[in-house]
Amino acid sequence: MMTGAGRWSVAVVGLLAVAGASTACRRPPPPTDVVLVTLDTTRRDHLGAYGYAGASTPELDRFAYGSDLYTRAYASSSWTIPSHASMLTGLYPSDHGARLRSVAGPEAPVAMLRPEVTTLAEHLHAHGYATGAFIGAPLLDSRFGLDQGFDVYDDDFRGEGAAVGRQADELTARAVAWLQVQHDRPIFLFVNYFDAHKPYRPSEPCRVRHEVDDPNPLARARALYDAEICFMDGHFGALLDALAHAGRLDAAVVAVVADHGEAFGEHGEHSHGKSLIEPLIRVPLLVKQPRQRRGRRREELFEARRLFELLLDEAGVPRPLVSSAPAVINDGLVSELMVGLGAGRRAPLRTVIVWPWKLVRPPEGEPQLFDLGSDPGEHRNLWGQPGHEAGARLDAKLTTWLTARASGVEDAAPAAMDPSMEKRLRALGYVF
Ligand SMILES: [Zn+2]
Repeated sequence: MMTGAGRWSVAVVGLLAVAGASTACRRPPPPTDVVLVTLDTTRRDHLGAYGYAGASTPELDRFAYGSDLYTRAYASSSWTIPSHASMLTGLYPSDHGARLRSVAGPEAPVAMLRPEVTTLAEHLHAHGYATGAFIGAPLLDSRFGLDQGFDVYDDDFRGEGAAVGRQADELTARAVAWLQVQHDRPIFLFVNYFDAHKPYRPSEPCRVRHEVDDPNPLARARALYDAEICFMDGHFGALLDALAHAGRLDAAVVAVVADHGEAFGEHGEHSHGKSLIEPLIRVPLLVKQPRQRRGRRREELFEARRLFELLLDEAGVPRPLVSSAPAVINDGLVSELMVGLGAGRRAPLRTVIVWPWKLVRPPEGEPQLFDLGSDPGEHRNLWGQPGHEAGARLDAKLTTWLTARASGVEDAAPAAMDPSMEKRLRALGYVF
């Protein structure tokens, strides 16, 4: 497949040839618009496009019909800040630094995205793009540093109810208003929809559709979650309509991805950000390439952090020479999470996946090994079992991966926190 960079090079060579042969003036094709939509906390198995019978996601499903649908896409972490920072920089959490800090004490527990890192927005902006971000998650507040490179970073959480996240209708309206005044430059539009995150406040039509009054608490939570996804889906569709109306949708590259999922009782979990189990890190990912007409299933492993380079390639913008993390494990991927060790201490939990094997290495104690092909629910730990030497092979790969980036694991500077932000994070269930 010819990459976006390849197409751009051909266009430039063609232009030079014409200019040399005659005085005719042919303009190169306009640069490709880039759209990144993150569906915060949205599980792949709660979308119709991924086979969920109870879904009310017609807009996402329709978009999927004309896109690449990735079946083995993985987030680089299982909560909002490190996962988004990885997609926006191409780096692993231990390299970009935006994660929980490893030290206990009075300082803020969340580290900022390293200012010296080049983000996707900074890079596209340097290549002439207008850059706009419309943020639903309080955890993506600009104080955590993910606003680097955006002309507009719309993260106003002062409105009624907005302290626990802004809703999809407001975000789409703000994004569309921004879109309507962009005329002269290609755009990079980033929208973070937060509706699927607790606390659930679904709109009436979606509440009715999903019968959210089930007396069983788990069934009720799932129904409320689906109702929130239903609401988000409609406003995602309105965003696509606005892009189409502006004449930008067909030629744009559009990526739709979750930053992580949500657990509903799997392995005793009822949220996210506490482990790296499959419902949390295996995420939906849809990518519509410019002028793509037909959908395709993509079965290969894909790290969501690689959206950084995929979007640059599709836009025909050269990648920075030294930016995204090297792929030390060419046939697999890594996801990371800082976990508590007691007394305020934290250290990284990591997983490496080389399909179908998944090795989980905790900060202390023995690793675990699962065969995701035959055991997608991760119930049978095969570590140390005869005939499952894949465990030692993946463990060695992870050690090689760690050795290659040993210099990058210092904590970045703590983000500025104040009582209102701490209160907001606690309201969302983030108790550090
Ligand atoms: Zn999130």
